[in-house]
Amino acid sequence: TPLAAAIAASVLSLTLTACGQDGDASSSEGATVGIAMPTKVSQRWIDDGNNMVDELKQYGYESTLKYADNDPKTQVAQVEKMISDGVDALVIASVDGHSLTDVLQKAAAADIAVIAYDRLILDSPDVDYYASFDNAQVGELQATYITEHLGLVNGTAKGPLTIELFAGSPDDNNARFFWDGAMEVLKPYIADKELVVKSGETEYEKATTLRWDGATAQKRMTKLLRSYTDGRVDAVLSPYDGMSIGIINALKKQGYGTGAKPLPVVTGQDAEIPSVKSIIEGEQSQTVYKDTRDLALVAASMLNAVLHHRKPMINDTTSYDNGKKVVPAYLIKPVSVDKDNYKDVLIDSGYIDAKDLK
Ligand code: BGC
Repeated sequence: TPLAAAIAASVLSLTLTACGQDGDASSSEGATVGIAMPTKVSQRWIDDGNNMVDELKQYGYESTLKYADNDPKTQVAQVEKMISDGVDALVIASVDGHSLTDVLQKAAAADIAVIAYDRLILDSPDVDYYASFDNAQVGELQATYITEHLGLVNGTAKGPLTIELFAGSPDDNNARFFWDGAMEVLKPYIADKELVVKSGETEYEKATTLRWDGATAQKRMTKLLRSYTDGRVDAVLSPYDGMSIGIINALKKQGYGTGAKPLPVVTGQDAEIPSVKSIIEGEQSQTVYKDTRDLALVAASMLNAVLHHRKPMINDTTSYDNGKKVVPAYLIKPVSVDKDNYKDVLIDSGYIDAKDLK
């Protein structure tokens, strides 16, 4: 409900304030922040960038916002430029988690604070904090939706049922967390042969999709379906809405989506408008909503604390080892959304405007 959402948001901001990291910005007055975002292909990152600029403005900070066109080299160059322009802090949603080691060494030498935003930055000791969602839980929500909606949980499934598995970009640390979270739920059913991966492609390496590209996912889905000599696919684990749309296109081109051959259960992530429309139309089954407004709130508050030499609020100190250190994190809860709850969760909370779904 809107009230519940409003309460949740104000509890979050009150908690952040009570933790002592907010308040007077005078000692960092005029500080500037470089915000590096991965791509404008997906609406969520556009919102993330704008939300960050707004939240930082509330604290009196100026920011520069750059998008890297999903190219790791471009992102490194953008961060380098921010450092030489003299920013006081960096907020980075990396394209390739492994590519920032050298540039962050320069940031550390210049005493610039670094917050990893949504995606963990890998192979670098120079990351101060991580603001994200519970990424393993995202995968668990997707897989649980599949097992429940195939009737595997309450035992009504007339098996064996079939599934195909997709993972995100191999250079994004989140992709592995989504996959592991999902596979923890799916593995027992696959082991019991209640759920069969018809293509045989059960390994993460085979399932990954470079840069989360929808067209790449569509191509792989087409190839998998063409390899079927009989039967159908009952579910597709898709980690991201943009890929789900590609996967559904492939399925429809292969004759799915008619009375005789209904679409499989297809998951997603980010509650992007094309996918929410698809859910309403009965094509995509589910998505995972992650309130990017809360993420910006958390990241800005973290950064304000760091700039005041205070400890930000964190709620995880064990899950995110980047190869050089375990990065202290604040993780927000993701929410599973389908046609039954999208109004409550997405529209009543003001995340999506109902008129954008027309
Ligand atoms: C984010 C997801 C998003 C994906 C593709 C991941 O790092 O956590 O929310 O779907 O990137 O943009």
